[in-house]
Amino acid sequence: LVDIQSMHKHYGAFHALSDINLSVHRGERVVICGPSGSGKSTLIRCINRLEEHSQGTIFVNDTRLENDTKHITSIRKNVGMVFQQFNLFPHLTVLENLTIGPIKVKGLSEPDAIRLAHEYLERVHIPEKANRYPSQLSGGQQQRVAIARSLCMEPEIMLFDEPTSALDPEMISEVLDVMVELANSGMTMICVTHEMGFARAVADTMVFMDQGKIIEHADAESFFSQPRDQRCQQFLSQII
Ligand code: ATP
Ligand code: MG
Repeated sequence: LVDIQSMHKHYGAFHALSDINLSVHRGERVVICGPSGSGKSTLIRCINRLEEHSQGTIFVNDTRLENDTKHITSIRKNVGMVFQQFNLFPHLTVLENLTIGPIKVKGLSEPDAIRLAHEYLERVHIPEKANRYPSQLSGGQQQRVAIARSLCMEPEIMLFDEPTSALDPEMISEVLDVMVELANSGMTMICVTHEMGFARAVADTMVFMDQGKIIEHADAESFFSQPRDQRCQQFLSQII
């Protein structure tokens, strides 16, 4: 579903990502971790073309990412993304936040979009919040709306960039629970997170990044039982 080969990303002279190779098949759950500034967000953002990569190739769903806006639109339809900051439209209700994409981008009729929105609000366990505004919700609820909003586009893959790191501790688990349910439903997911309990519960594959490189890339079981790289061992010992 995603295939990245020999990919590099420069910000001016700064080499933010170096020789990234990563492929993710349908239904696979990948968790990416690593120290601050290691390039995790940059990598995620290259996959849905929020950033342009400088070298190498990225395929999403057999579409090669390049500067063709037609491709960008199809990528954005297929790739859902949830950020640390929830990025909801503050002047729209929850329901309007959820229906605007399907109506404007996918051409759904309003009744169909509303039906879909209610379905996904159920999935994230806040059906009763449909007519609230984002500012009337807790952080955990806002993040679940953000997840539902992405799901309303019926993406083939979901990208998460530290979706719980802006949340108060007591709200983290309600968001992680929704993500675990999503993983169990078979969604292909790439998650940047330091929530290792979540990673152990859902990850098929673990990736550890440092200084713009993938240092360790292993199935979850061997990653946790015997990380090979010393930086990775050290990182894990600090956060677990
Ligand atoms: P964190 O855990 O803090 O979110 P990260 O692993 O997500 O870190 P990135 O945000 O991908 O790290 O950043 C990787 C490097 O690229 C950092 O050194 C950062 O300063 C640099 N960088 C990121 N965005 C830009 C930009 N728009 N222009 C220049 N440099 C950038
Ligand atoms: Mg980041």
